[in-house]
Amino acid sequence: MSGIYLHIPFCEKKCIYCDFYSVENLNLLSDFAELIVKEIEIFKSESEFVDDAIFDTIYFGGGTPSLLEPSQFEKILNSLFKNFKILTNAEITVETNPGTVDKRKLIEFRKTGINRISFGVQSFFDDDLTFLGRIHTSEDALNCVKFAFESGFENVSVDLIFGLPGQDKNKWLANLEKTIELNIPHVSAYNLIVERGTPLYELVKFGKVKIPDDDKQAELYELTIEFFENAGYKHYEVSNFAKDGFECRHNLKYWQYENYIGFGPSAHSFWINKRWWNVANLEKYVKAINSDKLPIANFEILNKEKMIEEFIYLGLRSTGIDLKKFKNKFGFDFLCLEIIDEINELKNLNLVIVEENFVKLTRKGFMLCDKIAVDIISKINYALR
Ligand code: SF4
Repeated sequence: MSGIYLHIPFCEKKCIYCDFYSVENLNLLSDFAELIVKEIEIFKSESEFVDDAIFDTIYFGGGTPSLLEPSQFEKILNSLFKNFKILTNAEITVETNPGTVDKRKLIEFRKTGINRISFGVQSFFDDDLTFLGRIHTSEDALNCVKFAFESGFENVSVDLIFGLPGQDKNKWLANLEKTIELNIPHVSAYNLIVERGTPLYELVKFGKVKIPDDDKQAELYELTIEFFENAGYKHYEVSNFAKDGFECRHNLKYWQYENYIGFGPSAHSFWINKRWWNVANLEKYVKAINSDKLPIANFEILNKEKMIEEFIYLGLRSTGIDLKKFKNKFGFDFLCLEIIDEINELKNLNLVIVEENFVKLTRKGFMLCDKIAVDIISKINYALR
């Protein structure tokens, strides 16, 4: 089954760490549903390959999708259901900034068929939120989560960031404890990454901000894994934890190498062995759509070697390398002669386990995910020669 991603490229104010494509000028926000519907229609008329595809997830990301009005979501969802074969029980997620919604809006969101809300909380401490340049307070976040449950959402997620300046173990733990207190069934916990081109990058570069070193970040990460495992959450991707049945079905598509199509500026799509992406520029996007053209910036065709590499890397980061799927897709056994010694060694070091047809990382393995992936990929490349 396949997924649909929609990128809503507006933010009231850019956060200092963010490098996702979005603009602070909201002039085009009220016209955006019409633009994206037009893109969907152009795509559908030019893309026979999706005619028989079945979709079971829709994900509104950004940017700040929750800036859209419920009627705009309705318009976009109607167009998607009209143009594609989408299961009636599809997971429909909206990334939501707690500073942009109230109870009325959340009730209206639920009525449109949206059934999963992912709140960008980042921290339950106001000093952290001010540092990050967020537009909401901790109280806004607490209220939103409460309102979401009261509005009929069961599938609620929050994003949190660790590795913030001055954030010690206890402060981070207090954030994690809050998610349990609020009964939130899904948590994404990311470490603060200093991306080039962001205001945070400049602050760090000129010594105005000091972020915790790698050891400190690793310590907080390990604490996070242990905390959620003890609280009965499944660690189903490097940064994601869920109660049973609350894994994000859409994000699993990326990690399990399934097909997805994307709409909106900067949105990426992936179909079998082709990846393409839209222009990350709102003006160019509007120009293309108004000329009845798809706003595609570029594409790449992945060869077998590259696909195997991505399949292994994404699998290890999440639910594991699916051995059956690997064989079906690439025509040979993952646990072939060239790799079996490496896997046995990783097993002896308690870094991976082989279970139910999957090669998975252990908790210790997750701490070394990138290195293990590189080692395995180099052995597989050898097998391919
Ligand atoms: S609200 Fe989200 S998308 Fe917008 S700038 Fe902040 S982190 Fe980035």
